[in-house]
Amino acid sequence: MTAFLSMKAVRLMEVGKPLALEKLPVPQIGPDEVLVRVDAAGICHSDVHYRAGVSSTGPLPMTLGHEIAGVAEEVGSSVKHLAKGARVCVHYMATCGQCGACSGGHEQFCSSGRMIGKHLDGGYAEFALIPARSLFVLPDEIAFVQGAVMMCSSATSLHALRKARLQKGESVAIFGFGGLGFSALSLAKAFGTGSVFAVDIHPGKLHLAAEWGAIPINARNGDPVEQIRDATQGRGADVALELIGKPETMDAAVRCLARFGRAALVGLTRASFSVAPYENVINKEAEIIGVSDHLASEIPLLLEWARAGQLRIPDAVIRTISLDAGQINQALDGLEKVSDYIRTVIRPGAGL
Ligand SMILES: [Zn+2]
Ligand SMILES: [Zn+2]
Repeated sequence: MTAFLSMKAVRLMEVGKPLALEKLPVPQIGPDEVLVRVDAAGICHSDVHYRAGVSSTGPLPMTLGHEIAGVAEEVGSSVKHLAKGARVCVHYMATCGQCGACSGGHEQFCSSGRMIGKHLDGGYAEFALIPARSLFVLPDEIAFVQGAVMMCSSATSLHALRKARLQKGESVAIFGFGGLGFSALSLAKAFGTGSVFAVDIHPGKLHLAAEWGAIPINARNGDPVEQIRDATQGRGADVALELIGKPETMDAAVRCLARFGRAALVGLTRASFSVAPYENVINKEAEIIGVSDHLASEIPLLLEWARAGQLRIPDAVIRTISLDAGQINQALDGLEKVSDYIRTVIRPGAGL
């Protein structure tokens, strides 16, 4: 039994309305579950979509927040890989572990998969009830705030680079230098990549990209594909990541490829884009690859790079707030207006 009877949670009560603070009973754990005392919960652009109803959640009210790190407060009787008091971070998919997709290592397509913070109550709360399968030990060297933010954007960037089969020494073009782009740059460096081009139109983002070792390409200064070709003696990029979800950047990601290049499409859109098959795919044996979420099996690699100091989200791009509905709604409003590289992280302990 937990020593805590009630907890605060900031929840989506109604689509299109600001999130609201509720007092809830602290959840009781089952044998395969862990009660996590939330130390850090990242606010993600997807949360803006859930609040606005652009993508739908499970039945309301729902506690949002899928980027979670904290401490195992109570551990279910069947859980073997974690003890009470362990520092943990959360892989946001709750999966069955048994269906064809899960046993094939593609659990993002689990037939009964649900997302924490979307279909199951998430981390905008003092405590979160998490299936043990979705929990990983967070090494001491990684701060909770870092751990939380890595669980979404960094994990997805890693999956994208793995899907694109990035090899040592290859060049990468990153279209869109937000949270995902930043992680992609750090990870590409950890992979031992050659040149990394960061394509954006926001001077602040391009400046940050250059500071962190990328070659900035301002798409306002002319076709980014031409600029990448000029910088590579006409070759183009071996790997392109499209992280924005716009037809024109998808088109550019394909066109900028070198021979045998791979374009990994991560950004979401329902709009179409067209491809010149001979010029841009067949004649180069280029590939266009879809990237959906990431895998639990990739989290240990991500954590190991972060532990070793090869992946780090700079403190300058992280802003923390307390578990306060006003501050959280304000952060969501900000994300709705501009896509930024600043990550806002809720620290529920800060206001206790
Ligand atoms: Zn996220
Ligand atoms: Zn499954």
